[in-house]
Amino acid sequence: MTQETATVEAEENPVSRPPSPEWALALSEVVPVPVAALLPADSPRAGGEDPEHLRTLAELGRDLPPIIVHRSSMRVIDGMHRLRVAAAEGRPDIPVRFFEGSERDAFVLSAQSNTRHGLPLSRTERMAAAGRILGSHAADVTGPSTKTVRALRRESGAPPSDEQEVLPMTLKDRSGQAVAPEHVDALRATVRGQVFAQDDEGYARARLVWNGYLNRHPGLIVRCAGAADVVEAVRFATRHDIRLAVRSGGHSYPGHSTIDDGLVVDLSGLKGIRVDLQRGVAICEPGRLLAELDDETYRFGLAVTGGQVSHTGIAGLTLGGGIGWLCRSRGLTVDNLVAADVVLATGEVRRASAEDDADLFWAIRGGGGNFGIVTSFEYRLHPQGACRTGIVACRAGDHAAVATGLSAFAATAPDRLALAVGLFDLEDGDTGIAIRYVDTAPAEDTDALVDALADFGPEPVPRTSETTPYPKVQQLADSDMAHHRRYYTRSFMIETVTAEALAGLIDGFRTRKSELSQIGMMLLGGQVARVAPEATAYPHREPGFLVTLLGGWTEERDDAANTAWCREVYDTMQRFTSGGVYVNELLDEGERRIVSAYGADHYQRLSELKAKYDPANVFRVNQNIKPADPARA
Ligand SMILES: Cc1cc2nc3c(=O)[nH]c(=O)nc-3n(C[C@H](O)[C@H](O)[C@H](O)COP(=O)(O)OP(=O)(O)OC[C@H]3O[C@@H](n4cnc5c(N)ncnc54)[C@H](O)[C@@H]3O)c2cc1C
Repeated sequence: MTQETATVEAEENPVSRPPSPEWALALSEVVPVPVAALLPADSPRAGGEDPEHLRTLAELGRDLPPIIVHRSSMRVIDGMHRLRVAAAEGRPDIPVRFFEGSERDAFVLSAQSNTRHGLPLSRTERMAAAGRILGSHAADVTGPSTKTVRALRRESGAPPSDEQEVLPMTLKDRSGQAVAPEHVDALRATVRGQVFAQDDEGYARARLVWNGYLNRHPGLIVRCAGAADVVEAVRFATRHDIRLAVRSGGHSYPGHSTIDDGLVVDLSGLKGIRVDLQRGVAICEPGRLLAELDDETYRFGLAVTGGQVSHTGIAGLTLGGGIGWLCRSRGLTVDNLVAADVVLATGEVRRASAEDDADLFWAIRGGGGNFGIVTSFEYRLHPQGACRTGIVACRAGDHAAVATGLSAFAATAPDRLALAVGLFDLEDGDTGIAIRYVDTAPAEDTDALVDALADFGPEPVPRTSETTPYPKVQQLADSDMAHHRRYYTRSFMIETVTAEALAGLIDGFRTRKSELSQIGMMLLGGQVARVAPEATAYPHREPGFLVTLLGGWTEERDDAANTAWCREVYDTMQRFTSGGVYVNELLDEGERRIVSAYGADHYQRLSELKAKYDPANVFRVNQNIKPADPARA
């Protein structure tokens, strides 16, 4: 590490700040406190000390300053070794100064006050000490709050590896009370699938979701082996009033498939899939990813609309809409949903289809996971062969011509042609505008269509074209959106791409804080627009473009810069939006945006159906629809 980075980090890291004078003010007068009160006999820290080590400590002197104890938690901030010596010598009490400040400051002070044989520690040693302190404090159930420990471990540079993390988290109910272990044991005995509590092997991996920005620690993860396990998990959560999150592919941008201290109903193990050729449908369990569904159906020359990144889960994508390369020709994924099995909040299992429970069927086609947990999806399949795909690119300076050309082209493009626009860095430092086209059913006029796209910019960058099996097209963007990086997004819809709007996006792109950040637009319309808005709960049927600003980065210290970038570009683009937002690209952005995602009319009906199917709002970790007040219905 260079001197320069070390200095910058030292300034940023609160653990390395010099002790502030306020802390001294937060210390009480010296008072004698019983050793046993600070170091109970059954404390893991009371036993097992190396006698040699204790002797050395004793020799170092008993006349060191009083130890410091955090008042409200009674934790020893400074002087644990002196306390051990006192305990080993059988002394009844020890002089103490109480620290009256916040728990957080106590830990920072603790990390800073560490000494080695009376000498101040180097910064690296302080960092390591902070990590150890936080780890050992955290091992105790009565320790500081999960949030504090996590924040400070991060700030202190303590190892992020989960295997080394021992955090004081247990499964908690809504009031914050720990759920008794015997209840968890009873659940373990009932379900067939795996159950992961914090100290179970496999927990560290099981808790991970796609977005590395969201580092949450569920109290319990139930990886269901079948629909019956889902029923058990839901009943367990409602019986003990535990917040639950539902996870399938784990790709929720805002992390709605994981939850601190709550229960995750994990469906990733439900991988059943069957193509029914006679009925032309695929019956698929929610743990499948798009790549897996495509792989199976394409072998029969069939497909259903998916998304544009093949490692996305089918479940969340379907329940929010499903926008992908095939949506202009085949409609959204929800438009191709024929039926679903749903576990309701009561644990009752319902089949939802046009015939079986039409209200529920309507609601789950765009209403997300608000109404229950889907354990099986049935999709209508369509013939699908190889696609012709490639990129036509222009320079940012040609944005006015591109905007005009694109808008005119979009209005007349055949449904089979899918278009996505992205921005990128050209080798000479300029910004490029790339139009990815996918002709999902190549025909004689494919080349002519691509030529028309290339005409947009007077100075086109060389274009590409290839014939590619549909599942491979689905994987084109996979590595741009790799797992466990940090992501943050803003999304909106625009009716037409004006020169001004495109210029705004280009300006935004040029100010991005990370090379992993992206700006993209997807052409909608075609079959999406031909379905009546009231046919499903998905409301945004008007032609136009879905615009996605995606901040992507790897280091936690860059969180603020990248999230701010995304919000700022969104703010400058607001004047171009049609007001709509795709529910599957929404973060936790408040009630107003949730209503925009469902549409005001749909929201009203969804809210009434929520009152019918989930009046207690058990399924609330999502873009939440509040149950309508029955008195007003
Ligand atoms: C890399 C990436 C690419 C994407 N590309 C596209 C795209 O091209 N087109 C598109 O339309 N969207 C796209 N999205 C958005 C995507 O549709 C949503 O993130 C979707 O929620 C992911 O589904 P999942 O099962 O992986 O998510 P999860 O995180 O498992 O779940 C997401 C939400 O759905 C709920 N849920 C999950 N499973 C169930 C279930 N079985 N029953 C009830 N509720 C459930 C969860 O509770 C949560 O609220 C993309 C997202 C990412 C991260």
